[in-house]
Amino acid sequence: MNVLERLDAAIPLSSEERMLVDSVKALAENVIGPNAARLDHAAEFPWDNLRGINELGLNAMFVPEAYGGAPVSYCAYLACVREISKACASTGITWSTTFHGMKPLIDFGTEPQKQRLLPRIATGGLGALAITEPTAGSDATGMRTRFFPDGDSIVVNGGKTFISNGDVADLYLLFGKWDGIDDPKKAISVLILEKGTPGLSVIRLEDKMGHRASSTATLAFDNCRVPRTNLLGAPGDGLSILFASLNKSRPSVAAHALGIARAAFEDAVAYINERRQSGRTIIEFQGIQFLLADLATELAQCEGWLWHVGRLVDAGETDFGIEASMLKMRASDVAMRIATEAVQLHGGYGYCKDYRVERLMRDAKITQIWEGTNQIHRQLIGRSFMRKA
Ligand SMILES: Cc1cc2nc3c(=O)[nH]c(=O)nc-3n(C[C@H](O)[C@H](O)[C@H](O)COP(=O)(O)OP(=O)(O)OC[C@H]3O[C@@H](n4cnc5c(N)ncnc54)[C@H](O)[C@@H]3O)c2cc1C
Repeated sequence: MNVLERLDAAIPLSSEERMLVDSVKALAENVIGPNAARLDHAAEFPWDNLRGINELGLNAMFVPEAYGGAPVSYCAYLACVREISKACASTGITWSTTFHGMKPLIDFGTEPQKQRLLPRIATGGLGALAITEPTAGSDATGMRTRFFPDGDSIVVNGGKTFISNGDVADLYLLFGKWDGIDDPKKAISVLILEKGTPGLSVIRLEDKMGHRASSTATLAFDNCRVPRTNLLGAPGDGLSILFASLNKSRPSVAAHALGIARAAFEDAVAYINERRQSGRTIIEFQGIQFLLADLATELAQCEGWLWHVGRLVDAGETDFGIEASMLKMRASDVAMRIATEAVQLHGGYGYCKDYRVERLMRDAKITQIWEGTNQIHRQLIGRSFMRKA
């Protein structure tokens, strides 16, 4: 066993969870991975992979039993995200986005909301998390989507951009501002928008550098009438729900980034053990060993932090925002660095699409941008040490 395999063996999972992760690994190796290059090339949504995921019933792992789920630990969920993303980052983000969008419904929804909406997700429905707008990226308080209360309904007007699963989701966790509340932070509210709501339209799909098999949509809301019973919490609760939900989704996007990092690391190691120049394998050159040592150490330390944060969540901790920021920032920087070096270690072949590292490098980049750019995470982490006046 090498050091990374020893780390995997120490992930805090029950024997049932380990079997579940093994079945996800088998699906990733036999179905998801083999489809990945074709889907990336065609920029085709990974329906076949999702079918495999739903045959295993994987959405059930994050839905409570009362609503048709079969929950496992957060560490087990993270391990599954990492395995799927290692095989195909597009499929990984498509699947985990459902968790990111629906976790706030699970944590903050009322009993009737959960009874009515969650069985759709447990049986394989897709979720989306809709925050970003053209004028509101890093600063979500700049959002302009408006929620107008009207009797038993809320009328939604506005639009969102860059929404993963935006054209295919069954349920959207949608943030907007409550009409009549002037303070831009206190106005932010959140509701569940259901597929097929009149006035909801997809006006654009992005043509992206990486994650080409995932869908990223611009949405418009034109007098969308949503039942008032779909509001999560009270008007103005949106920002606190947003922060609480980002704490759970950031470790998940970190697990996704670490799937890309692990794939790139393993491909690089395999290649430099085979490829020979000047009468030796590439790994025999000391300069290459030094580089590999740095990459392996960064990866191992970051994976260790992933399971640390996973354990905090499983222990019921709620104050782990800075730990989650550190994890998201470091995991995505490690993914970008290892994927870039993996291309370098493949020489000219790494620049060509016959080798997976070419895709991994393109897929890694966005992990430094979404779920709070790494500049924003550096600010959050640094600011947490500022003395309070
Ligand atoms: C493929 C893809 C999928 C996505 N999926 C989703 C999704 O499912 N749901 C969703 O809501 N959003 C999604 N996003 C949006 C994503 O979260 C935003 O792109 C991201 O938050 C950055 O916002 P922005 O693009 O508007 O950049 P901006 O906020 O305009 O930032 C531009 C640059 O300025 C820097 N910057 C901004 N403010 C500061 C500051 N205060 N200090 C220092 N630097 C700063 C940023 O770090 C960045 O480098 C997705 C985006 C992409 C590309």
